[in-house]
Amino acid sequence: MSAQQQSNKIPVQQVDLDATKHRVHPRFVTGFYQNIRVITMYALLAAFLILPWLRYNGRQAIWFDVPSQHYYIFGLTFLTQDFYFIAAFAIIAAFTLFMVTVYAGRVWCGYACPQTIWTHLYQYVEKWVIGDRNKRMKFDKSPMSASKVFKRTVVYAIWFVLSVITAATFVSYVAGTDSLYHSWQTVGLIPFPDWPTWVWISMFIFTFATYANAGYMREQMCVQICPYGRFQSVMFDKDTLIVSYDYERGEPRGARKKGTNPEELGDCIECTMCVQVCPTGIDIRDGLQVACIQCAACIDACNEIMDKVGYPRGLIRYTTERQLVEKEPSRVFRPRLFAYLALLAVLCGGVIYALTDRVPLEIDIRRDRNQLSSINTQGMIENSYIVKLTNKTQEPHNYKITLAPQEGLSLELRFNDVPLEAGESFDMPVSIYGDPDVIEFGQTPVTLNVTSEDGKYKVSKQNVFTTQGQ
Ligand code: SF4
Ligand code: SF4
Repeated sequence: MSAQQQSNKIPVQQVDLDATKHRVHPRFVTGFYQNIRVITMYALLAAFLILPWLRYNGRQAIWFDVPSQHYYIFGLTFLTQDFYFIAAFAIIAAFTLFMVTVYAGRVWCGYACPQTIWTHLYQYVEKWVIGDRNKRMKFDKSPMSASKVFKRTVVYAIWFVLSVITAATFVSYVAGTDSLYHSWQTVGLIPFPDWPTWVWISMFIFTFATYANAGYMREQMCVQICPYGRFQSVMFDKDTLIVSYDYERGEPRGARKKGTNPEELGDCIECTMCVQVCPTGIDIRDGLQVACIQCAACIDACNEIMDKVGYPRGLIRYTTERQLVEKEPSRVFRPRLFAYLALLAVLCGGVIYALTDRVPLEIDIRRDRNQLSSINTQGMIENSYIVKLTNKTQEPHNYKITLAPQEGLSLELRFNDVPLEAGESFDMPVSIYGDPDVIEFGQTPVTLNVTSEDGKYKVSKQNVFTTQGQ
């Protein structure tokens, strides 16, 4: 049976969204892949916790200020109009993930997915309070006692604290650390956070979601809900790295009991260690399954056993279907990878160009819709506009609006300078006057220029001057 044919073997009806009904208690294992995994997971976790505290130019460095529709990423300020950048970043991230999946399988699921990281963390809390796998399994089956209630309460309390920290960190990317952690009021004598309603609701939702996902749903999230886990097998090809059991080498499996002839058995000694360490509770020896998040814990566990019994490592290993089934060397470079690489190069090039070419100043011109034009007391034709200026830099600037020189046309401003704070917008009413003896009847294109006081930022926008409407 090929690795792909073996996929989806786990019957969906066996699983339930509440993982506590058949709680998986994985044995914690160490080894080459687990070391990489733990370092990766905790580095990502640390980055998630630390990033909102970084400051840049006196402001939170990464801040998605949704209420004011300003999004700050270090020196860059994006507004809602710049949404295409967010869309481009999301597309780049998605294609990077697709490319990595074609090459290395579900490496995201096993090493970097938040569901995996938080589940690992919550399981570690259980291990710390109750003990390793056997103790936890015994604990689950044991009758209710004061000690059981106490240990459960400690586990749930730590999970709750971790969920609140997670929620607060999530929300601080949007609400900002300043308003989240420094807004207090006193209710009676008790200090209480002084947050707007949406912050309270977000805190509640994220705390609940984290607690439910990592404490209860765990692997069921990957097996039943996550769409990425489901459609990944479609992206696999014969050269995709997958965690596989070497069926030919391992079978017939069997314990080395007295009286058995090891010559008649394969290398699998049926110790079940690969099953015991599996965070999703599956047996990799049944073939590739949709529940396998490719964490490689079974590889490390089996290698340890192989070392102990004196057999070569790699009975369970990262391999490809081409290597394992067809006994041919895998192809690293293949058309699909090149296609993803080319697409990513184009997308990244486009985003880098757009970012470097971007002027952090925006101008928008709206005509006065009530009246196309009018005649003033000096007999000049007047057109009125609203010029919206947005300072997308992270410093205050003074901007000057000018009209590109054109015979017979002049500009009148209410203010000569428009001072704008960082991220501020302002609607400036302006009028353009046309000399009826000089300008042509009909519509004439006009260009407004906006320049910062230091001349560093300059943008232009066209509109029309019309003689119609008299
Ligand atoms: S850990 Fe290795 S030897 Fe033990 S049951 Fe699993 S495959 Fe067999
Ligand atoms: S089968 Fe192995 S690689 Fe897959 S989830 Fe279980 S331990 Fe991880």
